[in-house]
Amino acid sequence: MLRNVKQAFLAMRLFLVKDFLDLIFPRNCDSCGQSLYDSENSLCLVCIGLLPGTSYHLRAFDNDLMDKVRGLSQVGLVMAYLKFTKEGKSQQLLHLLKYRNKPALARELGALYGRVLLQTDLCNRWDVIVPVPLHPQKLKRRGYNQSEEFGLGLSKVLGIPLQNLLERSVFTETQTRKSRLERMSNVDEVFQLSEGKIVQNRNIMLVDDVMTTGATLCACANVLLGNNAKTVDLITLAAGGKI
Ligand SMILES: [Zn+2]
Repeated sequence: MLRNVKQAFLAMRLFLVKDFLDLIFPRNCDSCGQSLYDSENSLCLVCIGLLPGTSYHLRAFDNDLMDKVRGLSQVGLVMAYLKFTKEGKSQQLLHLLKYRNKPALARELGALYGRVLLQTDLCNRWDVIVPVPLHPQKLKRRGYNQSEEFGLGLSKVLGIPLQNLLERSVFTETQTRKSRLERMSNVDEVFQLSEGKIVQNRNIMLVDDVMTTGATLCACANVLLGNNAKTVDLITLAAGGKI
């Protein structure tokens, strides 16, 4: 009896401390700025409901993203969680991840997509989640790799380990103005398997924040397949596409 009273008192005290902290440091939704409830993390439930989710998980092996990478890499499937539209919600989120120090937001988005994938037969396909690496200079400036954080959210929900198996060796300038082929040949040289890492016979989920031409992801996939990975699937937080 006394123990229960003590536990209740402790719980009450923790609750009060949390309320007090919320009062001094109010938590707000990263997307709309509204106050968050205790059960909410980086996004409020309204914003989660408004996320422009795709249905790629229903057509993972045959979709327009697969068409995009055909001929560039022999990947198993390609999917993206959110539909990318200029000035849309996904662009706002990607901007926050890149420039506003929001690793927890990336993890939450990964966890949300993990819950979507758990409803499908796909979730048993992978042995390991591998993020597309950032160049060390960028990593130092940003403090985290948003693709890795997205992957960590997926990892937690799907129960699949995340490992940093790739690294960039040469810094590339911004590649947005180059043609697809130039980008491909440019990025081809800059990824490699980290020293001592083995991917032989592994089924890999390769994750990145956004897919545009697919060149970066395919360059990474080719490194993994070239080192005898069994399968490589591409999963991104956002991509421009039809579904
Ligand atoms: Zn919100």
